[in-house]
Amino acid sequence: MWNATWRQSVWDELKRPWDLIIIGGGITGAGLLREATRIGLRALLVEGNDFTSGTSSRSSKLVHGGLRYLKNGQIRLTYESVRERENLLRTGRGLIYPLGFVMPSYSNDKIPGWVFHAGLIIYDLLALKWGHQRYGTKDVLDRWPFLRSEGLLGGYRYFDAHTDDARLVLRVIQEAVNDGGSAINYAWVEDLLRSKSGQVCGIALRDQDPRYPNQRVEVEAPIVINATGAWADELRILTGGNRRLRLLRGSHLVFPAKKVPLSRAVSFYHPHDQRPVFIYPWEGTIIVGTTDVDQGSIPKPEPSISTTEAEYLMIAARYAFPPLELNLDDVLSTFSGIRAVVDTGKADPSKESREHVIWQENGLVTVTGGKLTTFRVMAHDTLRAIRHLLPGHPRLNRKLRMLDKPPVEAMLDIELDAPERLRLLGRYGANAPRVAEAVKRGELTCIGETNSLWAELRWAARAEAVLHLDDLLLRRLRLGIIAPQGGIPWLDKIREIVQPELGWDDPRWQQEMDSYIQLWHRSYYLPLDYPQSIKKQSVSQESTS
Ligand code: FAD
Repeated sequence: MWNATWRQSVWDELKRPWDLIIIGGGITGAGLLREATRIGLRALLVEGNDFTSGTSSRSSKLVHGGLRYLKNGQIRLTYESVRERENLLRTGRGLIYPLGFVMPSYSNDKIPGWVFHAGLIIYDLLALKWGHQRYGTKDVLDRWPFLRSEGLLGGYRYFDAHTDDARLVLRVIQEAVNDGGSAINYAWVEDLLRSKSGQVCGIALRDQDPRYPNQRVEVEAPIVINATGAWADELRILTGGNRRLRLLRGSHLVFPAKKVPLSRAVSFYHPHDQRPVFIYPWEGTIIVGTTDVDQGSIPKPEPSISTTEAEYLMIAARYAFPPLELNLDDVLSTFSGIRAVVDTGKADPSKESREHVIWQENGLVTVTGGKLTTFRVMAHDTLRAIRHLLPGHPRLNRKLRMLDKPPVEAMLDIELDAPERLRLLGRYGANAPRVAEAVKRGELTCIGETNSLWAELRWAARAEAVLHLDDLLLRRLRLGIIAPQGGIPWLDKIREIVQPELGWDDPRWQQEMDSYIQLWHRSYYLPLDYPQSIKKQSVSQESTS
């Protein structure tokens, strides 16, 4: 349990001997910590900001095989992904849910429907699961009457899955910690230690907790893994490596579900460039994504959607659903993530491979790229690449559950409907009964129209390593994305529950609240220059051009 004293106790233990240090607390680092602890290694994960504050909380939240990767001929990536998707669906009930998709087929699509159909056959064969189906035009319009009907030739149904990406990372880290691993957030690696022969043999950590601004420690280990995603080049160049990564930003628009009545995902080609776009239900909202644009360097403090991206996604949404007359005023929130891909200089960023890479340079092992869905494959490939260096040369077992079995029986007495109980088990795993025990009167109700319970706020503030308000509102719960105005109108009630749990005085609360509001407007809503630069008129004109 990450209570008020856990962080200092991890910090005090950093000088212990470690077999392995993992830098980065996104899904890649989390998966590595989990798999390393499974094989008995003494493993430490250090995250410079909050756990999962990088791309792993800003993905499209799909647990998928990646049909688009199939189109690019990346059969291995697709095969691994569908297999991992199936394992996650089996072991992560309440956190990973199946999601039906429909792909309408239009006369002007660059890729004809039959090609897509052939892709779906391969997709289902790889998963050993037959789920796709062809619909005629009438069937499609009967089921989705608000879809564009002009040029519609029918459609295809298939299945993938979705999750809460940040909760997935937290659950994987917590299961690794329960199994003997150690993890600390807000501990930034500011340098790498080198042996006399120039090999990396440890890290220099700077505490980012505002209470200990000068706390610094050097931690040694025979193996240091760089799982810092889009930041990976920053550590690589400390060992003399050249930059090899290309950073691509992908952004999303989020609408309230009542604006877009969808129970399935719709995928279609963007009318401007024929890139695949998805519109899908998630946690009581509808997400439209994504873009794929060069990012240049890592934005501080967080990536944000640009005006051009917002318009691009808006055009897609209006094109797909003309009768809904969506416009940017309907947008609930936005979010953007940065993908690291190996730079081969392709003119079209979407053509760069998404497969993960593993590099070993002067003792630093870097693993980056890949997908949320394939976190265990990445962990296994990395540990296999360094197996000869690991004590006892341990073997990895791909047949094991990806997520631990949660204590289902312990939850049966809780006054919640079965789906809500399952949801708590999925999100909190072994801790779910404790979440329920911590509940105070009236807290087993949902926050506004979201599926999140007030009780979850109390638990997260008490025992989930929260250092700042945005950790709580953006990643432990996802109010910053799914609630009107990022949950800002509820801050008084939130404060009543969480301020005593967090032990913050009034000036600290005020400061945290101000920074959250500022961050939400800057990185989780429309660009700051909206509405001046985005005219509803210009969007509707472009969408019909
Ligand atoms: P990150 O999550 O970015 O984690 C790296 C961490 O390292 C960060 O938390 C950072 O703070 C930390 N760090 C950096 N430098 C330091 C340092 N010096 N010291 C300490 N810590 C440091 N995959 C899917 O399977 N399904 C999807 O639907 C999907 N959608 C996507 C949509 C978009 C727009 C993008 C960009 C990617 C998507 N992906 C998806 C891919 C997936 O999200 C990423 O591959 C994955 O999240 C990357 O995880 P990571 O742990 O490697 O990086």
